[in-house]
Amino acid sequence: MQPTNLIDGRAIAAQIQAELAQRIVQLKQRGIQPGLAFVRVGEDPASKVYVGRKEKVSAELGIYSETHVLPEATAEADLLELLARLNADKRLHGILVQAPLPPHIRPAVIYSSVLPEKDVDGFHPVNLGKLMLGDPAGFEPCTPAGIRELLIRSGVKTNGADVVVLGRGNIVGKPLAVMLAQKAPGANATVTICHSATHDLKAHCLRADILVAAIGVPQFVKADMVKPGAVVIDVGVNRVADPTSPSGTKLVGDVDFAAVQPIAGKITPNPGGVGPMTIAMLMRNTVRAAESLAAR
Ligand code: NAP
Repeated sequence: MQPTNLIDGRAIAAQIQAELAQRIVQLKQRGIQPGLAFVRVGEDPASKVYVGRKEKVSAELGIYSETHVLPEATAEADLLELLARLNADKRLHGILVQAPLPPHIRPAVIYSSVLPEKDVDGFHPVNLGKLMLGDPAGFEPCTPAGIRELLIRSGVKTNGADVVVLGRGNIVGKPLAVMLAQKAPGANATVTICHSATHDLKAHCLRADILVAAIGVPQFVKADMVKPGAVVIDVGVNRVADPTSPSGTKLVGDVDFAAVQPIAGKITPNPGGVGPMTIAMLMRNTVRAAESLAAR
């Protein structure tokens, strides 16, 4: 065991939140309280937990928040009507529609209907376009932005590094790959994206200086897939059976942590790695949204 090789996402998120608290004080001195709306459709248990955590951190930071819970059967048109109201509400600087949405609602339609300047989740095509262009004026998706921040604040060099991202999802893998490949500080890496059609995925992983697992397969990354000394970032959140737990289940990541930690240079625990950073980045985007409105 090398406890010192842990990248403590909780501590880094707390540091970022302390920085944000200062910016919020300054906004309040100018009569502005950042405001954030959460929209949840249906009763997905994980979504309830995620929104609950985001509400809690908002309250701790003094960000005004309100949560709209709609029934699973809500028509897409009704959700669009709610978003139009939230877009027009001057108390709100950010809007987050919690994924996943019920299958009859088209995510692309919904994400395109949040005003880009209130899209603190970073999924509007305008913000994704800015991400692609390397335009810092856009809002970046929170989980990949949190991963880059973890790397920067843990002193991990990305410049010229071989980064392998497992997973090409729109929420994590794809935007992260774009971010880390930008010609910019805290990026400038050589990035490979692997997915379910990748030939010899293990060979790609073994080349990685930084290996990011975002596939949603419990403990997929084993010790023999990791180059000794590599930095390993575990994004996965997977519920698996656990007869020893009172609930009968437990959460595990995409990395076999116990086996990989001894050979990794640095590694995120899971939980306590990427998850808290996703929330910290949401708060940072919301504070920025309020600051840009104040600057107009
Ligand atoms: P997603 O959109 O479903 O994408 C999963 C990706 O993994 C796909 O590209 C898929 O390949 C690839 N994949 C699946 N099985 C594979 C395998 N056996 N070998 C190689 N590639 C494989 O998922 P996501 O939304 O990006 O989420 C990924 C994980 O991150 C989930 O566990 C999710 O819960 C977690 N997550 C955590 C946070 C956080 O804040 N901690 C935030 C978001 C997501 P194909 O494209 O070929 O199908």
